[in-house]
Parts: sequence; structure tokens; C-alpha cells
Amino acid sequence: MVVSRKPLIAGNWKMNLDHLQSVALVQKLHWALKDAKHESDTVEVALFPPFTDLRTVQTLVDADKIPFALGAQDISAHDSGAYTGEISGAFLAKLDCSYVIIGHSERREHHNETDEVVASKVQAALRHGVVPVICVGETAEDLEKFGASAVPVGQLKIALENVPATGDIVVAYEPVWAIGSGQAATPEQAQDVCATLRSVVAETLGADAAERTRVLYGGSVKSNNIASFMREPDVDGALVGGGSLVADEFAAIIRFQK
Ligand code: PGA
Repeated sequence: MVVSRKPLIAGNWKMNLDHLQSVALVQKLHWALKDAKHESDTVEVALFPPFTDLRTVQTLVDADKIPFALGAQDISAHDSGAYTGEISGAFLAKLDCSYVIIGHSERREHHNETDEVVASKVQAALRHGVVPVICVGETAEDLEKFGASAVPVGQLKIALENVPATGDIVVAYEPVWAIGSGQAATPEQAQDVCATLRSVVAETLGADAAERTRVLYGGSVKSNNIASFMREPDVDGALVGGGSLVADEFAAIIRFQK
């Protein structure tokens, strides 16, 4: 079968940019990409602003017909009710969020999100038609002890429990040691783990799901290394943190040439 997975370049803003600053960045980014004709036919761009920016960015991309998808950085495992401070998948769907990042290492580390919590959030996203971007990755210590694949494979297996074969998901391999460190994995390392994660999708959800699921690499992706990752057959895009906060840099990442 000839596979054609549309590359996904996702910008995780983390806790940066208020709603006014979000307007400036989206407009600058749109401007920087203005000559990139048919860009959205070949690459999908998704922005993951803080919750407080979502409505603003949604209104802007909608009004100006900007071809950026919208995503949130987290989701509640619950759908509604007495969960102070939580944001439901129903609210995200209502704001046209196509995606939600689940299990980012910063949430695993600072908010004690276990693999089981991640799995229940994946279910919540699927209940509301929001595609979970499931983040997995090993720490430097894990890498030393177990090699690169063992921890992300274990995390992904739990996240995929109870996901139906038709479930629409994205997997992001983000080695924790590469996030924000300026020290990205090599393209070969990324390919190795992304291919292994795809085989986990094949084992759990079946061959069709594995063929269509996009597996991203994340961790210090910049305009000067994106092409080397995108040349790898099992890397279908990137989850970009710091590099997504500067319009020209993120535009250059989106315009990667293999
Ligand atoms: P980085 O972050 O690109 O700044 O390394 C990636 C991420 O945490 O998703």
C-alpha cells in the first residue's frame, strides 16, 4: 500500500503569550507564509495556545480564513461537573479544537500525570471528537538504563488501551532530554523510535491504523534541523515548542524542504 500521511507541524506554545500577543503571532505567521501557495495542501499546521487564547485564535483564523488547525495543551478526563479548574473536551470541541496534547512530559513531571491518567484523557478526547496528540518519551536516565524505546513503548501501550481500531490519534515521540535543551535527537534515533511506536499502533489498533497514524518527533526542532527529521520515513511531522513562538522561525520550520 502506498501511504500518504500529510505532515503535521504542531506549535506547542506552552505557558507563553497572552491572548493579545497570540493575535500578533498568528498574524505575523500568516504573513510570513503568504507566498507559500497551497501550503495547506501539503502540510497541516496546528497551533496549541494556552486555554485563555483559544477563543481569540479561533475567531482570528476563522475570520481571516487562515488555514491553521487549533489544539489545546490539556483536557480533563471528565466531561462536566464539579472539577474546579478543569477544561472539558466538550468545551474544546465547541471552540473548534481539532487536537489536544495529552501526556506531555511537563504534565507528567509537574502534575503527576500517570500513564493511567493519560489513558483516561485520551478516552475523553475521543468521546468529543478531538484528536489526542499522545506524547511519550524517555528521560536521560531512562535512556541510560533501558535504551530509547522501552519507556515510550510502555507509555503508548497504556495510552492506547480501549482506543478503537478506527480511533483517530497522533503520536508524538518527545525524548525528555531533548525538550528545550537545544540538543535534539539525531534523525536516526528519531526514526528508530518512531518506527517502533508505529509498530505498537499496528499491534494494538491494527495495520490500517498504523499506516494512517501520524507519528511526530519533538524536542529542540528548529528550522535548521527539521528537514533532516522529515526525510525519515516514519517521522510524519514535528511537535515544536520554543521554535513555534517566533513567527519567522516557525514559518521556516513549516516550509521545510526534505
Ligand atoms: P522544544 O519543546 O521544541 O522547545 O524542545 C518541544 C515540546 O515540549 O513539545
